[in-house]
Amino acid sequence: MADLASIDAPHSPAGEAPRISFVSLGCPKALVDSERIVTRLRAEGYELSRKHEGADLVIVNTCGFLDSAKAESLAAIGDALKENGKVIVTGCMGAEPEQIRGVHPGVLAVTGPQQYESVVEAVHAAVPPRHDPFIDLVPPQGVKLTPRHYAYLKISEGCNNRCTFCIIPKLRGDLVSRPAGEVLREAEKLVAAGVKELLVISQDTSAYGVDLKYAESQWKDRQVRARFLDLSRELGSLGAWVRMHYVYPYPHVDEVIGLMAEGVILPYLDIPFQHASPTVLKRMKRPAAQEKTLARVQAWRAACPDLTLRSTFIVGFPGETEAEFEELIAFLEEAELDRVGCFKYEPVAGAPANDLGEAIPDEVKQERWNRFMEVQQRVSARRLKKKVGTRQQVIIDSVGPTVAVGRSKADAPEIDGVVHVASRRPLRVGEIATVKIERADAYDLHGTAVGF
Ligand code: SF4
Repeated sequence: MADLASIDAPHSPAGEAPRISFVSLGCPKALVDSERIVTRLRAEGYELSRKHEGADLVIVNTCGFLDSAKAESLAAIGDALKENGKVIVTGCMGAEPEQIRGVHPGVLAVTGPQQYESVVEAVHAAVPPRHDPFIDLVPPQGVKLTPRHYAYLKISEGCNNRCTFCIIPKLRGDLVSRPAGEVLREAEKLVAAGVKELLVISQDTSAYGVDLKYAESQWKDRQVRARFLDLSRELGSLGAWVRMHYVYPYPHVDEVIGLMAEGVILPYLDIPFQHASPTVLKRMKRPAAQEKTLARVQAWRAACPDLTLRSTFIVGFPGETEAEFEELIAFLEEAELDRVGCFKYEPVAGAPANDLGEAIPDEVKQERWNRFMEVQQRVSARRLKKKVGTRQQVIIDSVGPTVAVGRSKADAPEIDGVVHVASRRPLRVGEIATVKIERADAYDLHGTAVGF
């Protein structure tokens, strides 16, 4: 429910469309929520403003996962209040309105994650929409906040797991998957509008459809089951790159590796392992923790040699012993993951992990983080170096006067490295070029376009 406070009249001069400034914080999933809210507001005739100043209202979509993200969200709300004064807060942190109101009592409304209706209701109350048939038009694929050539596609919301360091299920509830037909129709519209790369996201992508009992739904002339494999195959038929994020190593993931080897979807798995010690994984209550991860990784690589593996890990989990940490380091050396993020454990208010073992002192966390990064940087650099001399398909994200910047199939936007591309003819954003890789540095590749 929207938590509405008193509000005054809008500042847009009569006849002008009300203008909204939007701040989207947090993960790609939150970005998709922001896109939905913005699409709805644009359809109702609201305009977007680049600055808080002069806008009729500011919406802040917050992230409440870690204490540092909460602090960033509270600071963004404070800036919006200072620069504009009329602020509606939504997103993960909105699940705990008292925390926001405790610091910023002046916000107009606080709504929780996915409460699109409540946000829109709060906007209507603060700045009523102006009906105009010309500005009410919104493209059928919606409004995207990411560049036109790639788009995030959210296939489910919530999560049935209960990892002990995570409060997402508490904030977002259990898994709710979208029917396959609905996801595919959205993907089809995005591709028709010029999107060249679909980034599939959720909290737990490989659990897709479990809640629907894998029910079939209509798409085009056929019935498609709400199953990770079936959806991946159909998405791969649309002619865009399809990249899978937040996949867990459940046994059925092996089938999807086959689609990657065949080139149906990108040979890329974003698979957050979080740790490699079985005892830590057990305390974390990670899904598929009992699977023999190293053997699986090796089997996937054998089936799909071009596979890029990205993962995230947590060091300094409560009670993590030196021996458990050593197991993690040994795994890193052996698994040879391509891209890795590492976080020092931060206690999240309300997460059971805080009481699971002795808190690790900050200096030990830092020291383990340094060792972890040292090992992984070596591994990542070695993996990148192997690409020198190869030809890679690169999707162009931005163009400059002398070099363009793009990403190979191994690089997801925002989180991975890039490819710097020299070209004898100007490249266009969204174009996919064949690039001969000439050099690698710690994170990025450099090369020359040899085919367009
Ligand atoms: S799988 Fe675990 S970490 Fe991921 S959202 Fe679910 S509970 Fe949180």
